[in-house]
Amino acid sequence: MTLEKYSIGVGDRFGHQGAAQLRALQQADERGVKIVPVWNKSFREHTIVGTQPADTRHAADGAVKERDWKNSYYVDADHIGLKNVDLFLDSSNFFTLDVADFIGKAAEEGEIAAFVKSMAKYTAEFPLSGVRTTTRVTEEDLTAIGKKYLFAVKEAGRIYRHIAEKKGAENFVAEVSTDEANEPQTPAQLFFILAALAEEGVRLQTIAPKFTGSFLKGIDYVGSVEKFTTEFEEDLLVIAHAIKTFDLPKNLKLSVHSGSDKFSLYPVIRRAMQKQNAGLHLKTAGTTWLEELIGLASAGGEGLRVAQEIYATAFSRINELCKPYETVINIDRSKLPDPQKVHSWGSDEYASALRHNQSDPKYNLHFRQLLHVGYKVAAEMGDRYLQMLVKNREIIGRNVTENLFDRHIKSLFLDSD
Ligand SMILES: [Zn+2]
Repeated sequence: MTLEKYSIGVGDRFGHQGAAQLRALQQADERGVKIVPVWNKSFREHTIVGTQPADTRHAADGAVKERDWKNSYYVDADHIGLKNVDLFLDSSNFFTLDVADFIGKAAEEGEIAAFVKSMAKYTAEFPLSGVRTTTRVTEEDLTAIGKKYLFAVKEAGRIYRHIAEKKGAENFVAEVSTDEANEPQTPAQLFFILAALAEEGVRLQTIAPKFTGSFLKGIDYVGSVEKFTTEFEEDLLVIAHAIKTFDLPKNLKLSVHSGSDKFSLYPVIRRAMQKQNAGLHLKTAGTTWLEELIGLASAGGEGLRVAQEIYATAFSRINELCKPYETVINIDRSKLPDPQKVHSWGSDEYASALRHNQSDPKYNLHFRQLLHVGYKVAAEMGDRYLQMLVKNREIIGRNVTENLFDRHIKSLFLDSD
């Protein structure tokens, strides 16, 4: 199973927007760019919404049928580890092995020594043409990399072999993610992490490092675009070199998590990909749920009331809802509108506050982030919420497609400078 050059993580909290998301990929196809969908839903999300991995498979298959989608598609067991991977074995053909929690755990001394010994020959690869942030790698550097990442790499090996044993190595796509780590990985560290993964026999096709800067949920990148650009370009060089040096899968590419709405980065990512003829995997799960709310608000009547109610409840339960997302949101509570006031808003006011249009003075990124983590409130509404999705299917679908195509796909894959 070989993942295509361009893929996009089309998460879907409630499993109703698959077809609308596929329509955006079909629009890209009409413009000559092939992007395949990967339905990603993490264990965390399943727990909060109260769904099972089989539900994601069911929604994906249904959307593919409805839109008559002819290309490949995948269902991702997103951010799994050994403790929960078994739940996903039947329904998934893509596995994101999350080993961020194992970074910094100590591998045995002997293992670290063996790592340094086997990696020593690769220090000669630096300086690597085009990589300016690290020009030299010493034995001490290797020891430091081993101490920090070897345990995590070995954990990835354990999860990978477990899946391979159950499904057969040729029947799934593996991604390794360290994006929820505390510190970014440098391009040179990435090179040796890939070397160690190759030694463990992990045939990964995508890797999600933690990049410099903040990738907050549902809003634009926070950090130095210039620094990110250098790091991203160097990561691409390192990956191309690692594929040859360690005989890794030829389609190995970067995966950008919390990748939706990073509008200030898309042009630089696009240029870097073009320059190096590189592929990309971009995860955009939560942005679609917000389009559901925009659609409901725009529909007016009961739809608008449901959207207002979800905000009021989220506002009153802010601590609880933000907890699982602590490291990936940044809400200034003093900037949140009073629920009473939101109650008096019309469709346009609600939609303008929520829609990610930075040139609209009514856009409120704090309101947006709170609603981003507020999907639990909608999940608790149960049938009442799902019926609203069915009833307002058309207007929501329009927003979902437009958001994915106009604001994401166009600027990442289609615009030319
Ligand atoms: Zn992630």
